[in-house]
Amino acid sequence: MKNIPEALLADHTTFRLGGPCRYLLDCPTPDEVKQAVKQLAADKIPFVLIGGGSNVVVSDEGLDAVVVRFVSPTPLIKRRNDEVTVSGGTSLDALALWAVEEGLEGLNYATGIPGTVGGAVVGNAGAWGKQMGDVLKSATILDHKGNAKTVGLDYFGFAYRHSRLKETGEIVLDVTFALKPGDCVALATERAAILKTRAEKHPDLVTHPCAGSFFRNIEPTSKAERRQAAGWFLEQADGKNLKVGGAYIFEKHANIIIKGPRCTAQNVHDLSLKMATLVKAKFDLVLNREVRFAGKFQTAPGANERGFW
Ligand SMILES: Cc1cc2nc3c(=O)[nH]c(=O)nc-3n(C[C@H](O)[C@H](O)[C@H](O)COP(=O)(O)OP(=O)(O)OC[C@H]3O[C@@H](n4cnc5c(N)ncnc54)[C@H](O)[C@@H]3O)c2cc1C
Repeated sequence: MKNIPEALLADHTTFRLGGPCRYLLDCPTPDEVKQAVKQLAADKIPFVLIGGGSNVVVSDEGLDAVVVRFVSPTPLIKRRNDEVTVSGGTSLDALALWAVEEGLEGLNYATGIPGTVGGAVVGNAGAWGKQMGDVLKSATILDHKGNAKTVGLDYFGFAYRHSRLKETGEIVLDVTFALKPGDCVALATERAAILKTRAEKHPDLVTHPCAGSFFRNIEPTSKAERRQAAGWFLEQADGKNLKVGGAYIFEKHANIIIKGPRCTAQNVHDLSLKMATLVKAKFDLVLNREVRFAGKFQTAPGANERGFW
């Protein structure tokens, strides 16, 4: 475990935004996460956990907290027949690639999704109509006191981009997925096609720092009959040309905010409020954030942060 005092969170998020934290504990393995959390609990020190930092916007002034960063630079994966146990800090895309090479089917949909397996489980990450909850069998989770337990699929209460862990704050140490035998060549062909489509439609994080889709799609219970892309409503409401400071909208996707030159985290926050306000005014629909804000942001008087418009 590495202790980095006053680490800049911009270096650990895909948006490349965010000031310093008190100190960052870099934990590549589940054991190190457990050890760090136990020690922090014993010392009564509050902390925030991040994985790949691909779904967060950290404030410009940073976090007055300790950050535990759970990223396994080398994939930690064990196979038993068609079951696979992987550390929560393993890159989701590295796991998807490994499954292709092993001829195991069930995780190809996750090809190209940034971040860690743990982050993906907490947010029930998905694409192409599939999500983590479809293949997860069990997981070892850790509470903020450092107590670990093994739980099955039902524990997570998976829903669209949601799991119970979003409320409990429990940490995913490792996950077991139940996969099926597949054909390596067919899986590799599918993976290549997914990567091509993603490259065409999604921003390249090197040139366009971002956190992916900013708002959740609209639930079927709302004015839309089935879940509809938040990007569609944003586009219809003329949201594509919105800009605040250095934050602007990705030209190919109205639901993605990009960090441009001199962009601050506050710019991203303010632009997201503008986007939500526009959709509220045109469709009377409330957009809910998928991306999480961490730290302090200034809010304009009258802005409704809870409903977010
Ligand atoms: C270009 C781009 C494309 C994307 N495409 C998709 C997509 O197709 N589908 C999709 O669903 N998402 C997508 N995302 C969003 C993002 O990649 C996922 O939400 C990802 O699963 C987040 O994982 P992370 O490790 O980066 O989490 P972080 O951003 O580090 O953290 C997000 C939340 O998860 C928590 N967390 C992280 N690790 C753990 C853990 N081990 N245990 C418990 N809690 C944890 C954090 O505390 C935080 O609350 C995209 C993002 C980008 C930038």
